[in-house]
Amino acid sequence: MPLDPKTVDHLAELFAQGATNRAVSQTAGVDRNTAARYRAQLGFGPAPKRPAPNRSTLTVEQKVLTLMRPAEGGHMEWTGRRTKSNGTPVFTHHERTYTARSVAFRAHTGRAPVGYVTAECDQPEWCVAPAHLEDEPGRTRARAALAVITGRATSLVECSRGHATAEHRRYLPDGTPYCGACHAEGKRARRAAA
Ligand SMILES: [Zn+2]
Ligand SMILES: [Zn+2]
Repeated sequence: MPLDPKTVDHLAELFAQGATNRAVSQTAGVDRNTAARYRAQLGFGPAPKRPAPNRSTLTVEQKVLTLMRPAEGGHMEWTGRRTKSNGTPVFTHHERTYTARSVAFRAHTGRAPVGYVTAECDQPEWCVAPAHLEDEPGRTRARAALAVITGRATSLVECSRGHATAEHRRYLPDGTPYCGACHAEGKRARRAAA
């Protein structure tokens, strides 16, 4: 038996609000099959799935900040999880695992980091303060400036094995220059030998 027009209007209104068949049947006093039939007849798609109740409503950039605790000197401590292998601060957001420093860098600068992200303050071991983080180009720029100040800058245009300085020059935290390409090759060779 068809429903009266007033009830149909009421159903349409509820569907338009995103109500499930179950909610519609409870509110309008029709059974769920009737609700389902009218949903199809009235041209409404399935009700939107509600997020699981424990699903965070925060964005990934907002969530990373909730896992930090201010420390002395403007640094921030990580209160979340760390990887077992090397202690890298990580966290999970909507079933995906993120590296805390990379997300914090993006939250702070508004852009994705290039290469890995490190704290370039005086607490590089544990600090995750967004303002203290640098990606590869930022780190190289900051350390190159330090190399100039400390007299460690080099005027060579290539390393002893011919890698161009402009592209491959990297610096230790104290400003000591080294060749990033040679370093990477050495790392690969050690890994292959192991
Ligand atoms: Zn810091
Ligand atoms: Zn080299």
